[in-house]
Amino acid sequence: MFVDVASAKFIAGRGGDGAVAFHREKYIAAGGPDGGDGGDGGNVVLVVDDHMSTLVEFRYKTKYKAENGANGSGKRCSGKRGKDIVVKVPRGTLVYDAESGALVKDMSDDEPFIICKGGRGGWGNQHFATPTRQAPRFARPGLDGEVLEVRLELKLLADVGLAGFPNVGKSTLLSVVSAARPKIANYHFTTITPNLGVVRVDESFSYVMADIPGIIEGASEGAGLGHRFLRHIDRCRLIVHMVDVSGSEGRDPIADFEAINEELEKYNPELAKRPQIVAANKSDLIYDREVADKFKAYIRNLGFEYFEISAATNVGVDALMKKVGEVLSKLPPIETYTPTFVREEEDLSNHDFEITRLDGDVYMVEGNWIKRAMGSVNFDDYESRIYFERLLRKYGVYDALEENGAEEGDTIIIYTMEFEYVK
Ligand code: GDP
Ligand code: MG
Repeated sequence: MFVDVASAKFIAGRGGDGAVAFHREKYIAAGGPDGGDGGDGGNVVLVVDDHMSTLVEFRYKTKYKAENGANGSGKRCSGKRGKDIVVKVPRGTLVYDAESGALVKDMSDDEPFIICKGGRGGWGNQHFATPTRQAPRFARPGLDGEVLEVRLELKLLADVGLAGFPNVGKSTLLSVVSAARPKIANYHFTTITPNLGVVRVDESFSYVMADIPGIIEGASEGAGLGHRFLRHIDRCRLIVHMVDVSGSEGRDPIADFEAINEELEKYNPELAKRPQIVAANKSDLIYDREVADKFKAYIRNLGFEYFEISAATNVGVDALMKKVGEVLSKLPPIETYTPTFVREEEDLSNHDFEITRLDGDVYMVEGNWIKRAMGSVNFDDYESRIYFERLLRKYGVYDALEENGAEEGDTIIIYTMEFEYVK
């Protein structure tokens, strides 16, 4: 089954909790805090797998969860890190955030991509000891991992897209020039899945050609099969536009050529502007030379390269493929799409924060913008400290601490810093 759209939910692992423990040894009274840290949660990692050619696996499994980090324990033992989950996708898979529709990643290269980061493990109580608080009875809980619901869309990565009416010989051409074995039959709509074939020009140069199910009139409005598959030639660098010039089906090549271009234009005007080479196929069957010659003159007049071929008997095919290779070598590489998705945490306009009461009089404040701000504050400098305090006030941290019951003299932990709460 060829599936080129799917949905999935990715869940990174939660971080393990930090431990509250105290050093214990025979004959030694009141050992210090030695609670270890929780392990980080595992990530959700996407990788391209060239053995996959459809998104069908996401029909059967839609939820992908990485392992949680283990909790810390006494004797400064850190919890084990949660294992990553690796999710394989076919090359050319576009990953969209289901909620906003923004593009998260174009999975076209071989770099693994961490789509959801595991939650950080919490600190054990060993980190919270200070000269005045020698026996902290609290530790930090682990944080949740990132979660993302996505829509997946496969847009095959092909250098060359074959366009043309059904039955003109597209699949035949692909099977002649590559090792691909698409279905070939003498009726319309034989191809119901896109096929990719690698065309080897020589040792060092090859390109990928895609045969997509026939584009028919009205396809761009969803009238037939073609519409669903047009996306697979969206990225192609060059179109080989195939037309049946034999007249064997009583078709007019010029009208066919124009109809297909109209479809491309309606679907995506950018695609219609892609360079085209015209392959006039079934030349072995031509019974009206005049029709073929008229078509040739028409195409040349438009400025397109024109090749008369017979895919079935392999005549003229080499010259066509050589030209295709030549043109490709001068064109920019296959288009990849630039992500537009911004996680809330990375959003500079986001000033959310979280307050956790770790103990009766100890509070922890967390927020990505706070972490960022701390990076630029010099806490030895009075002015700088005032600036930081103003920032916290401005975005409601003081109000929230008050609401959570913080009182004068309580301890406020903000990442690596500890402050005494002064209203
Ligand atoms: P597609 O729908 O465009 O993929 O067309 P196919 O490759 O499936 O071919 C449709 C029919 O045309 C099949 O019966 C092929 O054998 C036949 N065919 C393809 N190319 C040629 C050709 O150059 N000459 C002749 N005589 N028949 C061809
Ligand atoms: Mg076909």
